[in-house]
Amino acid sequence: MRGQRCFAADALLPTGWAKNVSLQWDVDGRLAVVEADAAPLPGAELACGPLIPGMPNLHSHAFQRAIAGLTEYRGQSVDGGQDSFWSWRTLMYRFASRLGPEQLEAIALHLYVEMIEAGYTSVCEFHYVHHDSDGRPYADDATLALALMRAAQRAGIGLTLLPVLYQTSGFGGLPPNDGQRRFIRSTDSMLRLLERLKPLCEAQGAPGVEGAPSVRLGLAPHSLRAVPPDGLREALAGLHAIDATAPVHIHIAEQTKEVDDCLAWSGQRPAAWLLDHAPVDARWCLVHATHMDADEYRRAAASGAVAGLCPTTEANLGDGIFDLPAWRAAKGAWGIGSDSHICVNAAEELLMLEYSQRLGTRQRNVAAAAAQPQVATAMTLAAVQGGAQAAGRAIGGLAVGQQADFVVLDAAHTALAGLPAADMLSSHVFASHRTSAIDSVWIAGRPRAQAARHDLHDSAAAGFIAARRQLLDAP
Ligand SMILES: [Zn+2]
Repeated sequence: MRGQRCFAADALLPTGWAKNVSLQWDVDGRLAVVEADAAPLPGAELACGPLIPGMPNLHSHAFQRAIAGLTEYRGQSVDGGQDSFWSWRTLMYRFASRLGPEQLEAIALHLYVEMIEAGYTSVCEFHYVHHDSDGRPYADDATLALALMRAAQRAGIGLTLLPVLYQTSGFGGLPPNDGQRRFIRSTDSMLRLLERLKPLCEAQGAPGVEGAPSVRLGLAPHSLRAVPPDGLREALAGLHAIDATAPVHIHIAEQTKEVDDCLAWSGQRPAAWLLDHAPVDARWCLVHATHMDADEYRRAAASGAVAGLCPTTEANLGDGIFDLPAWRAAKGAWGIGSDSHICVNAAEELLMLEYSQRLGTRQRNVAAAAAQPQVATAMTLAAVQGGAQAAGRAIGGLAVGQQADFVVLDAAHTALAGLPAADMLSSHVFASHRTSAIDSVWIAGRPRAQAARHDLHDSAAAGFIAARRQLLDAP
């Protein structure tokens, strides 16, 4: 029975830290027993440190992993002599134009291995490079989506696949530019792609499929600047006909320029426009949602949507600071994503989020709560819950019916050794100094990383390095 039972002296359940926790899961990796103050079941794997829920990564553009670190210099600018998101995007487009399916799979496989080793157990892939380098659909239109699905399956990470609808280069239906030729789709062609992918996603995540965590299909209208109102309405109606419960993710209000352009186009800020014109509810993930006014924070939270926060990418791109206190005051759900993959580490994402809040509010432990004063514990629980909701998958922590996705912290790590469990998690997040304090990572009840390493660690890294070299050397 090895691999279907686990016992931990300390485990972080949705209600908080518990002692002597016995876990048991079924053949599909779904938790059937979660019992505190229990004795180990016969044959149970004994966790060598505190057990925390696996973190869903709610926002990823896999191919961007290959340019992480390559845009850290002052380049030419499009907005008044300041380097910003928009100059980063120019470089990203140049790189995206050279990508092929083998390279995408190699980059994504390495990325997903990195994610697992860093405590992420599932990923929402916001997938917008659809066509070949000339902008023509591949003979099989799903070619690049399938490359991502293969990478996720090989790594063993759970997947929510979000094909991206991208139609215009700016508000008011501005025609796409040449750098966007690989992203552009009609609404009809997007719905045909979803219909093609749906049975494949269901098959990969079907009960009993050996070693495959579930795959969920959703849709990502890229942003209000890239999808005009008609396209948005028709795509949502089409998605509803395919799967009325499918997740919907959208970039919203990431930069002030986007807010200004939206105001000029519609007289409304992006989040306000979206809330007035789309059926935003708990299926939705509002990615970034950085620049909202007080009313937008209140209304967006009340819609039930998850705020998709990507703190290290938002810091890297100079986007601005999400108002977490306002969001939490409105009882908004939130989760974390590694987005551009400038950092692939769930603990560091939480660290960056909390530190940005401290710098903005000149207070400490901003994300703690009266019921959960330990800030790392409070953030982990909130981000797992919000991330699971955004993923549209049963990955919401250590509870019966949820997938057995969990991380065992390394209790022998110098930063953690000898501390109570909650302080171990705090040290993992705030004081492990970019060294991993993770021992093992389990997804759907299977160990995917042990002694902090995935089986494919070396081969995936070699494939990634070769693919990045090819892309850099391409004419
Ligand atoms: Zn993004």
